[in-house]
This record gives sequence, C-alpha cells and structure tokens, in this order.
Amino acid sequence: MERSYLIKPILDAVYPTIDYGKGVYLYDKNQKDYIDGSSGAVTASIGHGVPEIIKAINDQANKVSFVYRSQFTSEPAERLAKKLSELTPGDLHWSFFVNSGSEATETAMKIAIQYWQEQGIFTKNKIISRFISYHGITLGALSMSGHVGRRERFIPLLEEFPSVSAPYCYRCPFKLTYPSCDLLCASELEKTIQRMGKQTIAAFIAEPIIGAAGGAIVPPEGYYQEIKEICERNDILFIADEVMTGIGRTGKMLAIEHWNVQPDIVALGKGMSAGYTPMAATIVSDRVMEPILQGSKVIMSGHTYSANPQSAAVSLAVLDYIEKLQLIDRGHMMGNYLLHKLATLANEFSFIGDVRGKGLLIGIEFVYDKEKKIPIKLATVVIQKAMEHGLLVYPSSAGEEGITGDAILISPPLVITKEEVDELVTRLKRALVEVEASLHPTDGGQVS
Ligand code: PMP
Repeated sequence: MERSYLIKPILDAVYPTIDYGKGVYLYDKNQKDYIDGSSGAVTASIGHGVPEIIKAINDQANKVSFVYRSQFTSEPAERLAKKLSELTPGDLHWSFFVNSGSEATETAMKIAIQYWQEQGIFTKNKIISRFISYHGITLGALSMSGHVGRRERFIPLLEEFPSVSAPYCYRCPFKLTYPSCDLLCASELEKTIQRMGKQTIAAFIAEPIIGAAGGAIVPPEGYYQEIKEICERNDILFIADEVMTGIGRTGKMLAIEHWNVQPDIVALGKGMSAGYTPMAATIVSDRVMEPILQGSKVIMSGHTYSANPQSAAVSLAVLDYIEKLQLIDRGHMMGNYLLHKLATLANEFSFIGDVRGKGLLIGIEFVYDKEKKIPIKLATVVIQKAMEHGLLVYPSSAGEEGITGDAILISPPLVITKEEVDELVTRLKRALVEVEASLHPTDGGQVS
C-alpha cells in the first residue's frame, strides 16, 4: 500500500477507506457495507447522503459560503439562532456559533466567568465538573473533563478545577444504592462548593447523560433537580454539555428536559449539523446575557468560521429535516426497541454487565464477572470484531482503570428502521459470539 501522509488516531493502524454512505449504511472502497451503529462519533444523526441536505449545501454555496462575522451577519445564521431559541426550553434565547463541541464548552466556560465579571465579581473563575466526563480537547475544555486518558499528558497545562463524583449507580462511587443513598453524589456538589468557597466558583458543568466517557450513564431520578437547587442556592451557573445528547439523540430536543431542569448555558455540537459540516453552538439564557448586554456588550470568544452562512444553512436544513420526519419521537421509539433487544442479548453473554441509556444513546458495559462486576478490557476487541461483521460502534472506556468498566456506545442515526435495528443486533451478536470464544476465563478475561 502507498504510504499515507495523514496523521490518524492510531498511526500504525490500518483504516478502511470509506467511499460513500446512504442512510444508516457506509460503504468502503471494497464495497463492504457497515451499519453506522454509532453515527460516527454520535454525529450523523439523520443518516448519510440525505438529498435535502445536499440541496441546502449547494443552494447556499451558490449564494455565499463565507462572510466574516465581524463584518456581516447572514440570513442563515440569524434564522438558525431564532430556530434554536424556539427549540430549546425556557429563556435559552441566544446562540453563539462555533465549529466544534470543544469550542462550545470552552465558550460556555468563558461566558460563565464573564457573567460574574460583568457584575464586578472577579473571583468566580473555577468550573466544577464531574469525574467521568468529557467536555472536549482544548485546554480549557480538558480542564473541565474528568477523563484520565485525555488529560494525563497535559496536566501541567490544565487549570486545577474541582470535580465531584458522577451519578454512576451501576458502580456507585459511595458503594450505596438508590434511593437510600439520598443522592449523595448530588450533595457532594454542595460540599465541594462550601470547601472551595462559593465566591470562587462560576459554574457547574455536566453532560446530562454521560456519553463517551462513561457509556451512556443515566443519573437516578431527582439528581438534576437537586443539582439545580444546589446551584441556585450557591449562586453558581449550571452548564449542560449537550454536545452528544442534544438535538434529539436521547428522545428529547435536549436530554436535560427528561428531568425538567433549566440550564443557564447549553453547549451543542455533533447532531446540530449531523456531520454534513462543522457546526456547534453555545446557547445562552436571557439571565446570563442580561449583565453582558448591560455591560461590555462583547463576548470574548470567536473563531474565523463562527456563524458562517454555509454551516448555518446546513444546520437549518438538518433541523427542518428532523422536524419534518419527526425524528426525535422516532428515535425515542427505536431507542426503546433497541434497548429492549440489547437487554435481552445481555442475558446470553456472561461478559455484559449493564445495558443502559435513553433514546438512541445506549451503552453496554463489559465485566469479567456479572455478580462481582469486575471490570474487563474488552471494548477494543468488541469494536474490532463488530467492524469485521459490518457494524460500527463507539469506544467508551475512559474512567480510571479498575473503577469503571470498558463500555461501548450504540447510537445509530435517528432514521434507523426496525429492520435495520434487527440487523444491527444480529451483527453485534455475531461479533460477541466470536469475542466469547476468544476469552480465557482463567486469566482475568484476557482475549487471544
Ligand atoms: N462534549 C461532549 C459531551 C462530547 O461528547 C464531545 C465529543 N465527543 C465534546 C464535548 C467535544 O466535541 P468535539 O469533538 O466536537 O470538539
């Protein structure tokens, strides 16, 4: 094979070359088909090759693709901001467009700090996050991320932000069970604020359902209500990182809506343009914008491509398509069906410890022993075997080794049909059967 000049995630790995995609399927250069069981990185939520989106791309390119946001605004950017203010709950009325989820969370962090500064408070500079989280790869976003693997090389460069435990009931950090635990994981936030001094904390950030870092960890009932009350009581903002969970992925426009809790700032990405173009956003409430509008009137963030009309037009077309096909409700229904099928499949394999999630964001956690929940390193081999069988799934194994187990995310496009769900599960089962055959039960579940 000809040498490659492209820096890939793992430099010595061989990646199939993709040729084209249609619906939930991707096809490589050898015409092998793959079910896009993870929508890429939980991104291609309306499937591949959608004619309406391709038309929107061409139509906008024929008008104008790029104007610089400091010189012009554009109709697509204005319309997209209006649409998002209508689609998101409460007073989340303002959009700041960026190009990636990392930029969206980092902008959220900066706006939260600025919110306090505009009111003359310059000490509230820290963001509390959770251990077991991923908020992005830039240094600011990484400072807020509880992700050992991504952080370790850069620790000297990261801000020392405090973190609290994740609401991870399958492996409760306090070894308690719900509801007798009294939501200790939520009250830990209040203790941490008190320890640090609330005058030092700008905001708390959380993924409503923990995605890549934890394998679709869904918090117990009452958790977010408690979190919101703690934030309000202590004068700190609540940022919902909906980069993975937003735009219908979990069966609601925003995942936080499952708990009827109102965030002050929301980060969106991935599904916003469903992979057709880079597009992400920080959505800000009236409450947070108020002192900025009264004060400096400038948000100190922004990128060359922020709010470019091409990406805005694509994102608008994606949102229209989701509405037209009622994909949020559909994803919710298909998610229930898939979750049920995967839970049934779990009974057939000793190494599946937990199946969880909401809508079409589902995690499968692997264990060496179901009873004792001993973690096992299995995600890589499952992903490899699934790929051989024409199914793409997403790795989710970020927690500290020995504390959290390896998991995978299954998150196909919201357009998936019942028959395609059946085919997905059939392919996954073939892969799992082969994984099972390669396990050596006597040596801690190593695979050959
Ligand atoms: N937040 C969450 C919850 C994510 O899942 C991701 C990406 N996996 C990010 C932020 C960062 O997004 P990006 O990769 O687009 O920078």
